[in-house]
Amino acid sequence: IELDLIDPTLLKDRCYVDGAWVGTAKTDVTNPATGAVIGRVPHFGADETTAAVDAAAAAFKGWAARTAKERSKLIRQWYERIIAHREDLALILTSEQGKPLAESRGEIDYAASYIEFYAEEAKRIAGETLPSHRADARILVLRQPMGIVGAITPWNFPAAMITRKAGPAIAAGCPIVVKPAGETPLTALALAELADRAGIPKGVFNVVTGDAKEIGGVLTSHPAIRLVNFTGSTEIGKLLMRQAAGTVKKVALELGGNAPFIVFDDADLDAAVEGAMVSKFRNMGQTCVCANRIYAQAGIHDAFVEKLTAAVAKLSVGNGTAEGVTQGPLINDKAIAKVEEHLADATSKGAKVMLGGHRHRLGGTFFEPTVLTGASAAMKLAREETFGPVAPVFRFETEEEVIAAANDTEFGLAAYFYARDIGRIFRVGEGLEYGMVGINSGLISTELAPFGGVKESGNGREGSHHGIDEFVEKKYLLLAGL
Ligand code: ADP
Repeated sequence: IELDLIDPTLLKDRCYVDGAWVGTAKTDVTNPATGAVIGRVPHFGADETTAAVDAAAAAFKGWAARTAKERSKLIRQWYERIIAHREDLALILTSEQGKPLAESRGEIDYAASYIEFYAEEAKRIAGETLPSHRADARILVLRQPMGIVGAITPWNFPAAMITRKAGPAIAAGCPIVVKPAGETPLTALALAELADRAGIPKGVFNVVTGDAKEIGGVLTSHPAIRLVNFTGSTEIGKLLMRQAAGTVKKVALELGGNAPFIVFDDADLDAAVEGAMVSKFRNMGQTCVCANRIYAQAGIHDAFVEKLTAAVAKLSVGNGTAEGVTQGPLINDKAIAKVEEHLADATSKGAKVMLGGHRHRLGGTFFEPTVLTGASAAMKLAREETFGPVAPVFRFETEEEVIAAANDTEFGLAAYFYARDIGRIFRVGEGLEYGMVGINSGLISTELAPFGGVKESGNGREGSHHGIDEFVEKKYLLLAGL
């Protein structure tokens, strides 16, 4: 274990429950760029998870009873510590996840921004009074913390997917038990160490690692849990939703996407290429808002493909810690297998490889950034998320045709399009059945906006003042006899 950290005590090998470090180090965490073991974490099952939820439940009353300002101050302290340890957190993140260090630094800033925002928002969770139906009565609506939150998060954003949930939960007064992805538990545990140093009271923020099924089983059935908050695959999201039905828990799901990225004839082509690069190749194509299908209108198709291919050719593949690298390894063998499956299927159905198309000569899970043309609706990559560095370009003729094609999916998370005509911008912006639409931008994520999907991409929103809604219940008080 040789991570060169400024503060080595951020590297944890135990779980964080009830303000204490518990469990014994069992499961290896490996670096996808090298295969080296970089840490070890406990393998919790149902019993240990139940204990964590019990601890969170014991902390609930005290935490909820604090003034908003007290909660705000402690959450702000957590933010300050995340920023102060940005460099170490980024190195831990890259080492377990693979993304280039510059992207990891960006993720830490992005993750911290949710903690900062919700530290502020804690003071603005206001109720209301409504016009009453009786002269002798008043109607009050309180927004109260809903209870204990069980959160399950994925490996593609090991820090931000946690803070997006923990920030608003804790701000609203809800203790939270987080299960990070098995691939990336070390970032989560480092965040717990910093929460501890910030003085977040015991039991309010907990991190458990181990058996996904058993932990998920407890988080969806324990009577104290009121909200199951999940980011990950649609398949597991549906499973958790079914499990949560047993005790009628609220569920907030952020699931898979199949983002269309549309370039119209009137687009600024250079801007569109820049946006496509960010949207498609960030995190090696492993984000749920990554452009999955790139549609280019006939008038600019060839010019766009040429510019895109030239830009993709400049990407540099390697270990994320190396200077200048823009593409790290994919997370694991399963990820590589899916990319290869989609490529083989596409080329067998007529797609043409303009660039890349193979595993990278570095071996492991490195893959060549790839551009395809001649993509069509019959291909797997049109229906499923490829979650890898493959940019398939579809040619289209009309606005109506491309809106229909873009919406022809069970997913509805993010969509993007590039155009200048104001009428078209409104028609397409309103016509796309997606929770988020980037217009002349390939990057939409910010703590200041509500992030989330429609259709099978999930429900609920994370970020902005709307993000608090998942964590509060509205209680109606009728105050009569006045
Ligand atoms: P991916 O295939 O990208 O890893 P998953 O949906 O499988 O996406 O993983 C997202 C999160 O869900 C991870 O934390 C993972 O450990 C967790 N997970 C996987 N299977 C289950 C399950 N049966 N119950 C609860 N959580 C699960």
